[in-house]
Amino acid sequence: MINKKPPSAIAREALTRLNALKLAPTPANYQACYNEIACIPNVAGFPEAPLHQISLALTAKTPEQEKQLKHLDAAIGNRNWREVQEALVAFSGANHEGAPKDEGMAAAMSQRCMANLALAIEHMLPALGTDDEGFLAQVREFLDALRNPATDMPAIEAMLAKFSNRVLVAAEDQAEIKAMLLKLLHLIIENIGELSLDDQWLKGQVDSLLVAATPPLTLRRLDDVERRIRNVMSKQSEAKGRSMEAQEEMRLMLAAFVEQLAMMSESSGAFGDRLEESARQIEQVKTIEGMAPLLKGVIDTTRAMATETRGAHDRLRTLQEKVQTTEAEIGKLHQELDHASALARHDPLTDALNRKGLDEALTREIAGMQRKDTPLCVALLDIDNFKTINDRLGHDTGDAALVHLVKVARQCMRPVDSLARYGGEEFVILMPDTPLEQGIQTMTRLQRMLTKIFFLSGDEKLLITFSAGVAQMRPHESGAEAMKRADKAMYLAKRAGKNRVLGG
Ligand code: GH3
Ligand code: MG
Ligand code: MG
Repeated sequence: MINKKPPSAIAREALTRLNALKLAPTPANYQACYNEIACIPNVAGFPEAPLHQISLALTAKTPEQEKQLKHLDAAIGNRNWREVQEALVAFSGANHEGAPKDEGMAAAMSQRCMANLALAIEHMLPALGTDDEGFLAQVREFLDALRNPATDMPAIEAMLAKFSNRVLVAAEDQAEIKAMLLKLLHLIIENIGELSLDDQWLKGQVDSLLVAATPPLTLRRLDDVERRIRNVMSKQSEAKGRSMEAQEEMRLMLAAFVEQLAMMSESSGAFGDRLEESARQIEQVKTIEGMAPLLKGVIDTTRAMATETRGAHDRLRTLQEKVQTTEAEIGKLHQELDHASALARHDPLTDALNRKGLDEALTREIAGMQRKDTPLCVALLDIDNFKTINDRLGHDTGDAALVHLVKVARQCMRPVDSLARYGGEEFVILMPDTPLEQGIQTMTRLQRMLTKIFFLSGDEKLLITFSAGVAQMRPHESGAEAMKRADKAMYLAKRAGKNRVLGG
């Protein structure tokens, strides 16, 4: 128990005891006597210098710690162990009164942070431009979790990782869509410059562009528009060239026609002059002998005139026929163009059905499926790494590869199946009376056939592979919905490493 006497009394008593015990009056002996009387543990010399070293080595990170360091320095100065201990304990944060306050602050801060994160995600959503219900539901769940203080950190971390993966994919898609849009814009501008013959053509393209540019905008649809515009453009510039040629021919023929007319009036004028001269000479002729050569001249002139006229007639008729043929040719070209821009049901390169043809076939097959109550499969295939074929061997070889694929696909299909070119290097196969398993088998068979029937580019054997998704139509499902499922499965097949067929 500590002695309650005042320190001055203890000090006096300590001196008396020092004297009584005949001890040398050193600070250590005095301290020992003092401690004994004060009933405090006898501490050897207070290690002021090492303690100062410790104090200097400590760095305050908060104002509170700074305060405690000052206390520590004061305690060392006072050579007071108790105060040294208190200051160190407070500094190290082992102070039990402070902890809950700090924890409370941290919790409030992290809740504010989560709320801000939720707000930022909400603001970000429209920019992602997604219409995927699954993803939107996932985001809603994430937002709820962020705003719920009871959610634990690992759960938030897992959701955040999932979300940021999706955002990455969406951002890549957006960037690709932007690039495609820019390309399309260039194409259209180039094309408008080319247009001069007929507004109908422009209309055909603008119409398909308008349809495809209706939200939701997907890369697939943009790809399709690009393909259509390219088709019409090449047809158009080809037809425009031919039409120009035909017009030039017409112009030349017209010039020849006019020239011919001029020649006719000229020659009839010359004949007229010769006849007039003959008539004048005939008037002056007195004898029948003199008449004979003149008459002969008139007859010759008349005969020459008749021959000339007949020749002119023939030439004119030929010209007229040529004009009619050219006119018919121009008419046909115009029809072809209309056909190309709006009406055609077949893709000109591969002769597979085009999108319009596919839509019609799909409607027909769905009606058949409902009528006969039989399964219908929709398969969507996309050639793997097609861009590499184009880049390495040229666009024409790429085109030939597409034709090859269609040829092999036809060998693998039944006559009742329909084959359509869905986009650049994407094809759709409709298989009536076919359940899912069999649909997948057909596509796998096509993959195997492509490993046997190679595509030849010069001497080089090229293996064309594709990724495909197959969906069996569900009752009451629309064609577009089934296509979407097949497309999703195809996308997964790509993600899983390509050259495979997945059911959707
Ligand atoms: P992935 O395996 O992921 O499908 O890669 P990919 O290279 O096949 O696909 P991507 O969509 O990147 O490229 C498709 C290419 O197809 C780009 C385009 O230039 C080309 N393409 C589209 N239509 C035609 C066409 O009519 N003829 C040719 N030769 N190429 C075309
Ligand atoms: Mg593709
Ligand atoms: Mg591809």
